[in-house]
This record gives sequence, structure tokens and C-alpha cells, in this order.
Amino acid sequence: MITSHLRCFNPACGSEQPRSTTSYACPDCQGLLELTYDFPSLQAPDWPRLWQQRLGPGPGREGSGVWRFREMLPLFDDGAGMVSLGEGNTPLIAAPRAAQWAGVRALSIKHQGANPTGSFKDLGMTVCITEALRLGVGVVACASTGNTSSSMAAYAARAGIKSLVFVPQGAVSGAKLAQAIDFGAQVVETGANFDQAFRLLRQMSDQLGLYLVNSINPFRLEGQKAVVLQILEQRGWQPPDYIVLPGGNLGNVSAVGKALAELAALNLISRMPRLVVVQAQGASPFHQMWRSQSARISPVSEPATRATAIRIGNPANWPKAARALAQTEGITEAVTDQEIRAAKAELAQGGIGCEPASAATLAGVRKLREAGEIEPGADVVAILTGHQLKDPDYITEQLGRGGMLQVEPTPAAILGALRDWN
Ligand SMILES: *Cc1c(COP(=O)(O)O)cnc(C)c1O
Repeated sequence: MITSHLRCFNPACGSEQPRSTTSYACPDCQGLLELTYDFPSLQAPDWPRLWQQRLGPGPGREGSGVWRFREMLPLFDDGAGMVSLGEGNTPLIAAPRAAQWAGVRALSIKHQGANPTGSFKDLGMTVCITEALRLGVGVVACASTGNTSSSMAAYAARAGIKSLVFVPQGAVSGAKLAQAIDFGAQVVETGANFDQAFRLLRQMSDQLGLYLVNSINPFRLEGQKAVVLQILEQRGWQPPDYIVLPGGNLGNVSAVGKALAELAALNLISRMPRLVVVQAQGASPFHQMWRSQSARISPVSEPATRATAIRIGNPANWPKAARALAQTEGITEAVTDQEIRAAKAELAQGGIGCEPASAATLAGVRKLREAGEIEPGADVVAILTGHQLKDPDYITEQLGRGGMLQVEPTPAAILGALRDWN
């Protein structure tokens, strides 16, 4: 068993906190908290074989693509009491058409839309709701651009814990809200954007006795590391040149960077892939910070993009994301809504559906390739964060009813209407 510690992320502080802490802000400096491990030193452990065995056929098979990697997760009773819906183990799909469009040699898609509630948030939620259950909390809560609420509501229902969601007014996809409501969450629409809803929730969480499952929750980020382990396993432990993901509150890039750093320290990878964070132009404070080599982020007060999952102006995890980029020689990019739309259409024409925020990855690869920052020979993995049906309104808005025909119910009329179709 590997011992884990809950520590302040701020290097100037670094204080260790008891596992019973639930506010997930350092009481000494208000910094972010993170989990660290006493990993075995020197020799690379034989974990990849063990992880693969758990996935394989037979009675030892495990359904969760998070918990089978538990050597890299905070200590839980082995196999027992985990709140799981069979998350992870999502496909890694070759996307030659999109590769050609972006101008790179190889591009594959790690499709996180194939998770139980349709986004990567499930990887983190299985861990932090398990922790919530272990701590015996009464109510879990989040502010959300949509997917966190869907995921939290499902896992909380599974665990028999009540859940509360703050969402910005009129700025979240109806499909995502429908999921949260279906799973029995109490939804509160409040504030003009995610940042405002999140600030309110943080203010009120002690008063209401809430356990927060936003990505400031360090247990969530531990679960989200699993996407890296899955990708590497699917590639026979050969790292790609780049791993690309969209950036909102920057929890995902922080988790992915942490996983890579831990794997390198364990000698389980010999080469570091470069992380690429793509933000929407109207909500790109991290990109601005990274490009200008600023020491701190300057929040965007009115974030604007149709890719609502990444419409965030003041990302909480920016210090962790900055470390992830520094450790991987990472790059950032910002793309317009038009560029996102074009990338999403390109993916769709290759049979790959996703929500708009996810398509920012492909748009970013193309833009960085054109700028010469990514080389033509690059081998790229893009993490598509959410399912196509997460935002069906976007599709009808962009394409209208498109080629849909309304026809009299007779063969002759149908043949007539299809005459010009090719
Ligand atoms: C949450 C989310 C993001 C942003 O992830 P962060 O960890 O907040 O940076 C991107 N895409 C989708 C579909 C999401 O649900």
C-alpha cells in the first residue's frame, strides 16, 4: 500500500493537512491542496502488467478504468466501498481525416464522451464521491458549466448522498441540466457566469455544510489522472509527442500533468509528451498569461464563447496548470468560436461527435501547426472531453435543420424530394 498525504500546493507553504479537511483551501495560506505519495523509489514497479490484468477477462476483471490504477490513487480499502459506474476504459480512436486537416502525421482521439454521464468529469467524480462517502458528508455540491453537475448528480445518487448545483443563468446546455435533474440534484440557477456562481458557492459552503466537488477538490484531480494511464496503456506505454486538451477551470490539464510527472518519477515513461492547452479566445486568461510569461493570471471578467463548458474567466487551478506546462514544455493556444465550429465539423465528417469545447483541441492543433509550433511529423493525442449530445442545440443552431426534408408519406413524393440529393 502506498501512503498519501494531503498537502498545500503553494511551494512557499507546503503544510500538510489532515484528511478530514473538507474545505480544500489551505488554512494557512488559502492555497490549493494536492495529494502526494510515498512512491517506491529506484526501480520501475510492475504496475502496467497488474493494471492490464485487472482489465483482462476472467474473475479478477474490474469494470472501472479509474480504480484498476489504484496504486496511483489515495489509499482506499482495497476494492471495497468505491462509488463506481464503470467509468474510464474509453476508446482511443485513430482520426486520419482530422490529422490531415490539422496537418500532422498522426492524430488519435481519446473519447471521454464514452464515460457514464458523457464527459471526463466521471473519472474524477468516482474518486471524490468515494471520499465524500468515506467522510460521511451529508451534501455534495458544485458550481458548474454543466458536466460537473451531471456527473456529480449521478455519483451522488449512486452513493445515496444529496447533491446541490449552482449554474450560471441561461448559460448551460439544457441536456446537461436535464441529466442533473434526472439524477435528483437540486439545481440553483444563479449568477451571470461560472465564476460568479463558484464564488457564491465557496462563500456559502461552510455555512451550508457542503462538500465541494469542483476541481479544487484534490481527490477529483487524482481520478482524472487515469486518462493518461489509459492512453499510455492503449499505446503500449509509448508516449505521444503531444497531448492536447481544452482549458476551462484547468483541473484536467493539472491532473494530466501530475500523472505524467508521477509516471516519469516512477520510470514508467522515458519521454515526456508536451501538453497543449487550448482555450476559447473570449475566455483565454491562461493562454494570455502563459504567452506573456506573466507570474500571475489576469482574470477575464466577462468570459464569452459558445463553447459553454470552457466559458470560465478566473480558472481556479491556474497555478497547478502552470506547473504542468512547465514540467512538460507545454504550449497554449486560443481559438475563435468559428475555428471551433470548423474543427467540430471536420471531426463529425470523420464520424467523431463531441461537444464544442472538445473540438477546441483539434482547432488548436491546426492553428499551432500553421504557426510552426507543432511539427508536421507530430504524433498527437487529443482528449475529446464531452459527448456530442451534451449540446444538441449547438448543432441545430450551427446547421439549422440543414438538409432535413419534410415530405408527404408516399414513395413517389419521397423519390421526388430526393431527386437532387447526392
Ligand atoms: C469541464 C470541461 C472542460 C474544462 O475542463 P477544466 O478541467 O475545467 O479545464 C472542457 N470540456 C468539457 C466538455 C468539460 O466538461
